[in-house]
Amino acid sequence: MSSSELAFIKGVASLAAAPVPGLVMGIGDDCAVLRKNEEQVLLVTTDTLVSGVHFDLKWHPLHLLGRKAAAVNLSDIAAMGGRPTFALLSAALSSDLSEQGLQEFMNGFVEMLQEHGVALIGGDTVTAPCPTFTITLLGEMAGAEVCYRAAARQGDEVWVSGFLGEAAAGLALCQKGAAVPAEFAGLLQAHLNPQPRLALGRFLAASGHVHAMMDLSDGLATDLAHICTASGLAAEVDGRNLPLSAATQRAGESLSHDARQWALSGGEDYELLYTVAPGRGEALARQVREELHLQLSCLGRMTGGQGLFLREDGKKRLISYQGYEHHL
Ligand SMILES: [Mg+2]
Repeated sequence: MSSSELAFIKGVASLAAAPVPGLVMGIGDDCAVLRKNEEQVLLVTTDTLVSGVHFDLKWHPLHLLGRKAAAVNLSDIAAMGGRPTFALLSAALSSDLSEQGLQEFMNGFVEMLQEHGVALIGGDTVTAPCPTFTITLLGEMAGAEVCYRAAARQGDEVWVSGFLGEAAAGLALCQKGAAVPAEFAGLLQAHLNPQPRLALGRFLAASGHVHAMMDLSDGLATDLAHICTASGLAAEVDGRNLPLSAATQRAGESLSHDARQWALSGGEDYELLYTVAPGRGEALARQVREELHLQLSCLGRMTGGQGLFLREDGKKRLISYQGYEHHL
């Protein structure tokens, strides 16, 4: 997200700031939250994928692009701890996308929705200069369990699921254009076919121990800075704790790129980033490893002040908002 985008969102948020009956959380989190009844809330999120900005049809198979279009929205429901329910899709078609291509996209899109029990209930099609897909996704959950970005507390541990930087490494391999060696197949999957962490999100929200949570779409340096800003706190990440897979490190060597930079500011990890009370994180992580077979890593902690800091080699440097901008 660029600084001009951030400024625009702030401007829109101020226009929409008036309280509305039934609205629990408006602009400023992974989903808007609406009151459904005494106990339950509705979650609403929307996202747009534009050809040449968010995806490239040169290397992105349409079936996997359909899956990813669903996944990136499902990830925002996961980020609140919710259960997805219904989806709407608006597709802008162009001469770059044949009817058969659109069918492949739709097959992947509906396949990913069905894997998570979501029904497609409507949408729209138009023609436009380039293929564009806008998805709106609804979800629901217990209002008391919603994990907001603004809920981090001073002293909280900061945790993340999975590995960081794999999707960015996968994108870099695609951009290079040569045949990608089999050892990097997992990195390609991370870029082309990400998996939303819905079961993890629900597990963490229901645990009652998680304070703030969001999904990683723009890179750790930007997304953790969002939690800091929303919660009125700073955070410190220990550089030694960044979870880098062996494949990401090898890809970094092969492309002469610092793999840690992918982990910090590469986008589209779609892992979950969350904070827990001090001393609570490890027991929760153990339970997740046993029950969901997912890896979790403690990155650092929330502190007083402002900004996101990286500690490495005995030095501390500010890294807030050095995230990924979606430009291929
Ligand atoms: Mg998000």
